[in-house]
Amino acid sequence: MSPRTHVGIVGAGPAGLVLSQLLDRAGIESIVLEDRSREHVEKRVRAGVLEQGTVDLLEAIGVGERMRREGIVHHGLELRFRRRGHRVPLSELTGGRAITIYGQQEVVKDLIDARLAAGQVLLFDVDDVSVHDFDSDHPRIRFTHAGEPQEIGCDVIAGCDGFHGVCRPAIEKHLKVHNHEYPFAWLGILAQVPPSTDELIYANHDRGFALHSLRSPELSRLYIQCDPRDDISAWPDERIWEEMHIRFETDDGWTLNEGPLIEKGITPMRSFVVEPMQRGRLYLAGDAAHIVPATGAKGLNLALHDVRLLAEALTGWYRNGDTSLLDGYSAACLRRVWRVQHFSWWMTSMLHRIGAPDDFEAQLQYAQLEYVCSSVAAATTLAENYVGLEKV
Ligand SMILES: Cc1cc2nc3c(=O)[nH]c(=O)nc-3n(C[C@H](O)[C@H](O)[C@H](O)COP(=O)(O)OP(=O)(O)OC[C@H]3O[C@@H](n4cnc5c(N)ncnc54)[C@H](O)[C@@H]3O)c2cc1C
Repeated sequence: MSPRTHVGIVGAGPAGLVLSQLLDRAGIESIVLEDRSREHVEKRVRAGVLEQGTVDLLEAIGVGERMRREGIVHHGLELRFRRRGHRVPLSELTGGRAITIYGQQEVVKDLIDARLAAGQVLLFDVDDVSVHDFDSDHPRIRFTHAGEPQEIGCDVIAGCDGFHGVCRPAIEKHLKVHNHEYPFAWLGILAQVPPSTDELIYANHDRGFALHSLRSPELSRLYIQCDPRDDISAWPDERIWEEMHIRFETDDGWTLNEGPLIEKGITPMRSFVVEPMQRGRLYLAGDAAHIVPATGAKGLNLALHDVRLLAEALTGWYRNGDTSLLDGYSAACLRRVWRVQHFSWWMTSMLHRIGAPDDFEAQLQYAQLEYVCSSVAAATTLAENYVGLEKV
């Protein structure tokens, strides 16, 4: 007999871990399987901008204590172009809503601690995960753990295993795939240096986009647009800083602090969506179903929105046998997925340079940037999407 659980969750990223926490609070059992080590997932530096709704959700599931203490709340952001900065007052334009800067790896650490403290099953370092019989009422997950082949029987499988996982490929032939690759990538660095700014700076420069973000009062996170074919070895630290100085330069003497790099890497920019996000008893959530270009800072936030809907749907089903929310899961998620895809594409198109500095596209970008910085209506559109729309 294989062990049974209600929900088998593949992947201990933000989506899988928050889902397990939501289910636990609703009295629904789950087992989480993760193919990397605990140390690896707790150190993986990725997103860091939490929407207001994400903060509220993490608070509600009991993992908000450290985020409240260490997270940095931002009420605005800066758009920088033609050597001048323009503040978008996010909170003023959205009735007091804000974003919180708190690294994804910290969110993941808090969630792992909560799961293990509650005595719930979370297996790291599993291999050869495969999903089976999700077209029946008795789905199964097979995997190897500590060298032993194992199998779990469950009512439902949640595919929270990210873009390179196994769940989406298992059903991909039944799905419509939308894939849009951008002709640029982001070179991201994490630097041991106090941020040179109190709020995020999104810069449109003739040489390409740059973003100044942060992770803590001692850690800066910065990005520059680069060629997706670039090898990171072509970017020694001095070249990165030199390029950052150029792209952030202003006429008012603003300076950029430099410090030792802790990490650097190149991430391609893509928009990707599969429809529907479910097949039989297999439900996809987060990056397993969609990828957004990072300019909108939405990937993590969108992943958590999916699992909130999935947990609500599963709760309805276990409580009173009502399948309506489960049946409508994909359609409900995709409404927000496409809104967020559009916002992320819009931010990306407005800020990245593809052609010459004075070509048609560049002039359109400046026209759009000037509009956002001079019209309350246009600025509000950016602000309400950036802090996260309450309802979509
Ligand atoms: C390199 C990178 C950099 C990013 N940077 C930013 C950023 O700067 N800003 C931003 O807003 N967003 C960023 N994102 C996006 C954001 O981090 C993701 O949207 C977010 O992690 C989605 O969460 P998730 O739980 O859906 O997927 P993931 O975080 O990818 O979690 C999936 C989990 O499943 C595990 N897994 C995979 N395959 C298997 C398997 N076969 N069996 C078991 N487990 C498996 C993985 O190890 C992982 O732990 C970045 C993403 C990447 C990949």
